[in-house]
Amino acid sequence: MTETLLSVRGLRKAFGGVQAVDDVSFELHSGELLAMIGPNGAGKSTCFNMINGQLKPDAGSVLLQGADIAGRRPRDIWRRGVGRTFQVAATYASMTVVENVQMALLSHHRGLFDPWRRAARLHRDQAIGLLEQVGLADRADDPCSTLAYGDVKTVELAVALANSPKLLLMDEPTAGMAPRERNALMDLTRRLVKEMGIGVLFTEHSMDVVFGHADRVIVLARGELIAQGVPDAIRSDSRVAEVYFGSGKLTGISHA
Ligand code: ADP
Ligand code: MG
Repeated sequence: MTETLLSVRGLRKAFGGVQAVDDVSFELHSGELLAMIGPNGAGKSTCFNMINGQLKPDAGSVLLQGADIAGRRPRDIWRRGVGRTFQVAATYASMTVVENVQMALLSHHRGLFDPWRRAARLHRDQAIGLLEQVGLADRADDPCSTLAYGDVKTVELAVALANSPKLLLMDEPTAGMAPRERNALMDLTRRLVKEMGIGVLFTEHSMDVVFGHADRVIVLARGELIAQGVPDAIRSDSRVAEVYFGSGKLTGISHA
């Protein structure tokens, strides 16, 4: 059995009168791709933001390799090995692909406050190595603004991996992508996760992507965790089907 990387216990968060996350508990192992699904407003992003430190839980614990990180600051949690994909598209579009990854490496090595110009020289070999892993080394010196959308998403993945996370959080990583691009990105994520032995928690609207790529699935509805299991078990879970459609089957349905 692989190591328990993340253990979430009794997590709760309310906004005014809305119980956004209501006593959620689950575990995630190293090398595992865990999908969190649920209708809009189910509490997925709120859960993510409590794990990455953007939000303080009202109650509950978030154990990363046994250490409680609940309520710690985002930067502290990130330093302990919880990475997430950021949208580099908007901010760093004018930088080249390799510069984006070098910036992430600089930040990882705490050179964040060095003049950005130094990014052009530092960590270039390591950045190229990461781009080779994600299959984008041939675009290293192109501005990000010239990349196709799917490739920008792949750069975001490389940037997240630059910080050598133990746990990677991906909230809707494939939003806005065509089905074929979604599958390519999740295939790549899966391969890298297995190679690097890290754990991934991701949300995704396309059921095809979820059932095709996740090792396990947890389902939230109105803040509560209503089901968890392997994709086949979730696919045939009547409570899950009810939450999504009132009744019927989940197979092949996308509500993005
Ligand atoms: P999901 O990501 O599953 O779509 P969210 O976690 O974003 O769901 O939202 C869960 C619930 O919490 C929703 O009812 C949403 O309106 C509410 N909510 C989320 N963030 C805030 C906030 N910052 N302030 C007030 N209500 C919020
Ligand atoms: Mg969300």
